[in-house]
Amino acid sequence: MARFTLPRDIYYGPNAISELKNLKGYKKAFIVTGGQSMKRTGFLKKLEDVLKDAGLETRIYDGVEPDPSIERVFDGAKAMREFQPDVIVAIGGGSPMDAAKAMWVFYEYPDKTFDDIKNPFTMPKLRTKAIFVAVPSTSGTASEVTAFSVITDYSTNIKYPLADFEITPDIAVLDTDIPLTMPKVLTAHTGMDALTHAIEAYVASARSDFSDALAIKAISDIYGNLVASYNGDVEARGKMHIAQCLAGMAFSNALLGIAHSLAHKTGAMFHIPHGCCNAILLPNVIQYNSKACMARYAEIARAIGLSGVTDQQLTNSLVEMVRELNKKLGIKQSYKENGVSEEDFKAHSKEIAENAVLDPCTGSNPRAIDAENMLKVLTCAYYGEDVAF
Ligand code: FE
Repeated sequence: MARFTLPRDIYYGPNAISELKNLKGYKKAFIVTGGQSMKRTGFLKKLEDVLKDAGLETRIYDGVEPDPSIERVFDGAKAMREFQPDVIVAIGGGSPMDAAKAMWVFYEYPDKTFDDIKNPFTMPKLRTKAIFVAVPSTSGTASEVTAFSVITDYSTNIKYPLADFEITPDIAVLDTDIPLTMPKVLTAHTGMDALTHAIEAYVASARSDFSDALAIKAISDIYGNLVASYNGDVEARGKMHIAQCLAGMAFSNALLGIAHSLAHKTGAMFHIPHGCCNAILLPNVIQYNSKACMARYAEIARAIGLSGVTDQQLTNSLVEMVRELNKKLGIKQSYKENGVSEEDFKAHSKEIAENAVLDPCTGSNPRAIDAENMLKVLTCAYYGEDVAF
């Protein structure tokens, strides 16, 4: 795909949210957020005040749950149709941003069904009613700059990554004051999600010179700042907020790979946070994919100064680096250690592997994979063993 799409404007830095006072020429802003955190920390009020300064009438839609459902999307779209906004502003973690993007589609196209848009790049033309602004509170999903929205079908426990450049936001606001309020465990999980985005994008089949530059810078900055950010270093938190966005710009265009295919399916089945699933899976996915793109992993390792001379040594160092990071962030390295019982795993692993093959992220993985090998990779991740095939 010879196309590279990003939001038109990115405001960033401390107090970047105040830039929205310059949002002129609009009338009504519909604000989508999650649970209580943006209210409690005062950022929701600040957003409302800034939008009012810009002359906009506002309405808040809150309570978007983690891993938003199809039902949530349709409920929000209905509320949008009642209010008729010309600006949609999502503030919070990946879940409210993703939910708001999907609500936006059904606000503009009430007659569409979820099935109509669940295949990648099948969305109708948006921006006939509203533009989209995203203000992330966590540093990982990068939904504020991506063409993706992950929505869960709870009737089948499958997460659908909706994908289309139509849902790439118009404006992203990376206010580095907001992630300072992020709890430690979220910092760890979302940070490892961001690292997985950048590494998967760097080897993905749809990668380009544009995405490579962003991915390698993201990997380097995440490697250099994630642990300090986890330990509360204010400057490192700010760096991570920008680095995860660079990773998002890369993977929105280069797409991802099977760490995400498996993370989508295992996360929904075992109720383990998305970033934690990626942190578990990434070392094994690097090992599996290295048969197809070892030189690319070696380039990453070399770029961040890991040890080794041959491509194999450098790739091994990259795998070790990810495992070391997990250790420093308090993330256990296997599904088993994360509380998934052997009985539960065996009951669902085959189905997870089959569904992961069908996930849109599998199509851009650098090495082809069938259900049998997917199950082998997953099984290694369950027990925390090396992939050697
Ligand atoms: Fe992700």
